[in-house]
Amino acid sequence: MIPSLPIAPALIAVHEDKFYPLIEKYERQQKLHPTILITGLDGVGKRSMVLHLIQKLFCDQPKQNLEACGTCKSCKRALANQWLDLMWLEPDTGEDDSRIGIHKIDAFRELKTKLGMGPAEEPFKIVVITNADRMTPQAANSILKTLEEPPPNWVFILTATDASRLLPTILSRCIEIKLRPMDSKTVFSILQQIQGAELQQSRAKIASRAGEGSISRALYFMDDETWKIRDQILGLLSNPASEWMKLVETFSSSQRTLQLSLDLIESLMMDLVKHKVEPDHVWVNEDQKEFLLQWQESKKIPTGRILTLLTKIAEKRQFTTLTLNAKLLAQETLIPLLETIVS
Ligand SMILES: [Zn+2]
Repeated sequence: MIPSLPIAPALIAVHEDKFYPLIEKYERQQKLHPTILITGLDGVGKRSMVLHLIQKLFCDQPKQNLEACGTCKSCKRALANQWLDLMWLEPDTGEDDSRIGIHKIDAFRELKTKLGMGPAEEPFKIVVITNADRMTPQAANSILKTLEEPPPNWVFILTATDASRLLPTILSRCIEIKLRPMDSKTVFSILQQIQGAELQQSRAKIASRAGEGSISRALYFMDDETWKIRDQILGLLSNPASEWMKLVETFSSSQRTLQLSLDLIESLMMDLVKHKVEPDHVWVNEDQKEFLLQWQESKKIPTGRILTLLTKIAEKRQFTTLTLNAKLLAQETLIPLLETIVS
């Protein structure tokens, strides 16, 4: 998965100051820390900012206020994801692209055979290890030495959602740049840039809130398929008996669908919890506000029971990346919702 190009200016505006110290140091001393870790939730823009960083560092023109020209050969290559000495190492998803994947030792073995070589044409060889928090212990141990002492003119950029899952020894080698979740206004303007005139405004408003600071999550909420699943979940709330099997079918279609379906349930239920705590809160699913409030009232579901449901969903989540029978897993993760409705 490459970043969506061109990179949205709103995305750059939110994150770029985090990279200034690095760029400034490179400008002053021509020195670059060889292991950089960029952390932040999925869809916050980590990959895009890798390309932006490369552009800012290696622009061929003299920089004014740390700004790159955007038009020289280096800038163009970086912005088109065509930097010649750039390698993306992605977690291995096996045959099934809908899986989230994990870094295995083989890819790192292959990388190591190239370490003797310098950059071909650019000033640095840059290896981006995406989702570096998803490595088998063997893979992590095998790359450790390389990260401790990278060859000259090699830079490793690791991206991760959860830095605490990296080996402490890897973590201690990296300088970390933390990207914060974006506010819903920024997410909305990025959706606008990506989808242009085709943007469905009312859906985008909901998606930009439901995205909780993540573009990929917001884009998921823009998708027709997602709205169908949301309708199915809402259908289950009213008619659990008739909708149950259909929803199990949907939930078991892929690992990602399962995870994102849990996101949908959480988002709907969180609206009810937040409404209880703070009646003025801005609803994510504002189009369903009346329905959800009536549903809770007619079924006499105390907010405490919804909180219990949210806790159970959080617990079930850890199983969603395991290779288990998809149907069983879907049933297992949906049961707490069913219990909430019918108990
Ligand atoms: Zn340039």
